Amino acid sequence: MPQHAATTPRAKKSLGQNFLQDANIARKIVNTLRIEPGDMVVEIGPGPGALTTFLHDSPCSRLVLVEKDNELARVRMVEGKARATGKQFSVVLTDALTMPWQAFSMPWKCVGNLPYNVASPLMWEIFSRAQGLERAVFMIQKEVGQRIVAAPHTGAYGALSVWVQSFMRPRLEFIVPPHVFFPRPKVDSAVLSFVPHPAGTYTFSPDALSWTLKRCFQMRRKQLGSILKANGSSPELLEQIGINPQCRPEELSPARFHTLAEAWFFSGKH
Ligand code: SAM
Repeated sequence: MPQHAATTPRAKKSLGQNFLQDANIARKIVNTLRIEPGDMVVEIGPGPGALTTFLHDSPCSRLVLVEKDNELARVRMVEGKARATGKQFSVVLTDALTMPWQAFSMPWKCVGNLPYNVASPLMWEIFSRAQGLERAVFMIQKEVGQRIVAAPHTGAYGALSVWVQSFMRPRLEFIVPPHVFFPRPKVDSAVLSFVPHPAGTYTFSPDALSWTLKRCFQMRRKQLGSILKANGSSPELLEQIGINPQCRPEELSPARFHTLAEAWFFSGKH
């Protein structure tokens, strides 16, 4: 049993609670966020505070914690009031999936050891809606991290890879083994950093892209021509935009998906 296990709150499986016990790894994750004086930082799922303690020590000027667990949110609030001198500090007791991420208009950074059960939908939402997001660092399941950074023509490349890479530049920073958590997860974790593409460099509609990705990767082994046909569209549309109808979804780069999404979604023929 790890050293801190006795003082760690009882973990709730339904909230994806695997608490980090290693202070060096927690510090390394927070350092990866590159916090500068004046930054606003949001932590998702602070739990017992492994990362939070280093965020309090950081030079950020505003710290917001988003936690769904009542009891842990309360403890972080009490601790934060005592520690957050010279910083604006708040705890939001809510489901991060329902946060209005687009409401943060000022530049902000985001960090979290994300609950495995909601990590993918959460990143899907945040990256597409958070406009002022300057940098994010998330610890997630290693296999999900590998899917996020995957390149076309690989088995790991899918809807999540295209979606995340459309908004952000993801980088796999380091791998974290199961024994540094309590309770221990069954799999390795990975810490990824994300920075947005320079403002205004994407010209696709997120709704069109999301619609297209769902249709394509539901049938990832099929050729694009067949996928369009199965959705009531003509495969000729592919030739018009220079995409070979015999291609499979995993062969298209994010940029080609943007072209396909714009042409297909707005054609009205589906
Ligand atoms: N940051 C802590 C650490 O590193 O030990 C806890 C990480 S634990 C993997 C995930 C945390 O996210 C838990 O504190 C859990 O209560 C919280 N959580 C789970 N689902 C959530 C949700 N939908 N919205 C906000 N927080 C959530």
